[in-house]
Amino acid sequence: MRTAIATAVQEPLTFAEREVPEPGPGEVLVTITACGVCYTDLDVLQGHWPIARFPVVPGHEITGVVAATGPGVSWPRAGTSVGAQILGDSCRHCDYCVRGDQILCPQKRFTGIAMDGGYAEYAVLKADFVTALPEGIDPVAAAPLMCAGLTAFNGLRQGGITPTSRVAVIGAGGVGALAIRYAVAMGARVAVIGRSNRGEVAAREMGAERFIATQDSDPAEALSAWDGGANLVLNTSPSTSAAAATLSGLAPDGQLVLCGYGPEPLVLPTQPMGLNRLHAMVNPSGSPHDARDTLAFSAAHGILPEFTPIGLRDANAVLDAMAKGHSGKRSVITFG
Ligand SMILES: [Zn+2]
Ligand SMILES: [Zn+2]
Repeated sequence: MRTAIATAVQEPLTFAEREVPEPGPGEVLVTITACGVCYTDLDVLQGHWPIARFPVVPGHEITGVVAATGPGVSWPRAGTSVGAQILGDSCRHCDYCVRGDQILCPQKRFTGIAMDGGYAEYAVLKADFVTALPEGIDPVAAAPLMCAGLTAFNGLRQGGITPTSRVAVIGAGGVGALAIRYAVAMGARVAVIGRSNRGEVAAREMGAERFIATQDSDPAEALSAWDGGANLVLNTSPSTSAAAATLSGLAPDGQLVLCGYGPEPLVLPTQPMGLNRLHAMVNPSGSPHDARDTLAFSAAHGILPEFTPIGLRDANAVLDAMAKGHSGKRSVITFG
């Protein structure tokens, strides 16, 4: 099978033919249809993930079809269309696993970081950690839902979104555009925060009622003027300072949720937080039930990402462009 391999930090991916692996107990072999290129893949290659294992096949926005099952696997059967996300394994017996919050398991392992992922024609994955794709969903467009979609959907959910919430989304890139559409579909009122007005038309077309350009106005003041502030701010940009700058624009009891963040620390003003019981959270994607809900909600509301299909050997060029700060549509590796 064709694979792309991350051999070491700061090295470009190498391409190699490997034997198709055999699924062990509790595992499935998946023929990969598509794998999205996520900012985290770049983050791993830049050395920001001490838990990364090299060499590793990157990729955790995976869709494909089960080709074979290992011993003891009753589901999924061969032929099932599935998606796989970054959470690839957990202990299955700690408090968090038993409660279905496997993303918090102290023994969790990440696909494409500590276990081989989706930049390959096949992957062996844990049967408990793949999710059935909803009937009729485009499996290529669905690939980015496994991380970008899950992160946006679950960030809104962990932030306590309700149909009466005022939600501000920082950034309207891959994760941000999905977050805007999910929040609108969940019935919330939505504002979008960008640097310039460039994304305003697109944001309004997605259902946002306000657009705040930070080069023209202070985002916290603009949010405070929005019927008393945002109940939830979801940061999908890599800038933690952009997130912190919105904090005093939260309504009392409001929640700042980061699903994007870079290496800079998050610095927060404690007095406005204390006066209004404000909360801040960094949300790490989600558990298997969150992935299932993300796919079901996306399919029911017709929310699929825009993406650019690429070949496996284009991955280095895409990662280079991401490192230089070029953001655009999600790139999705397809195997045809
Ligand atoms: Zn556990
Ligand atoms: Zn990701």
